[in-house]
Amino acid sequence: MTRKLLVASSNKGKIIEIKDHFKNLDFEFVTPDNFDNLEEVIEDGQTLEENALKKARDRANKTNLLSLADDTGLEVDYLDGKPGIRSARFAHEDATYRENNDRLLELLKGVSFSDRKAQFRTVVAVVDPQENKEYTVSGYCKGYILKERQGGGGFGYDPLFYVPEYDKTFAEMSVSLKNKISHRAHALEKMKKVLNDRY
Ligand code: IMP
Repeated sequence: MTRKLLVASSNKGKIIEIKDHFKNLDFEFVTPDNFDNLEEVIEDGQTLEENALKKARDRANKTNLLSLADDTGLEVDYLDGKPGIRSARFAHEDATYRENNDRLLELLKGVSFSDRKAQFRTVVAVVDPQENKEYTVSGYCKGYILKERQGGGGFGYDPLFYVPEYDKTFAEMSVSLKNKISHRAHALEKMKKVLNDRY
């Protein structure tokens, strides 16, 4: 029997990306829309791992289904790993992507290109409520924070995140290229192996 996998995200783009990565696995994908008892989980962990696990556990406990969740942060070396877990709320609690990018540019004002190293890091967690098992993996993508935005695609910090190997920001890449080399892609590939080995 095909097993159900709950992809615990409300972001449609992310759900499509996850389903695409796992398309060769024998799962029936379900999303939070299929349930009416899944309110937002408060992401109050101290690490990406804690937040991803908290979301996956909540979904698994409420649905009794194998549940997957992820959490991503942008870690800038010069800022000692910030914004990290606060990436979505860097400028303030309800910040827009534009405000978060502006805050980042402000904090890096006058910093030379070579000191603007950063990485995106994603943690993917899967919780199996029936076997009482938890799995986490992480993936990263390294780059530099530019001094001004470049490119009109993507979301979040993409216009400022420059990947030297491709001489492009994430916002200048095609969706298919970004989805092949990104932090999330690397974490999802690792989780695909875990799921393939165990289910
Ligand atoms: P989440 O954990 O995927 O919700 O990501 C938290 C925050 O990190 C988002 O609000 C974005 O600001 C940023 N972020 C996550 N993934 C990406 C990405 O692929 N590109 C640019 N920004 C991202």
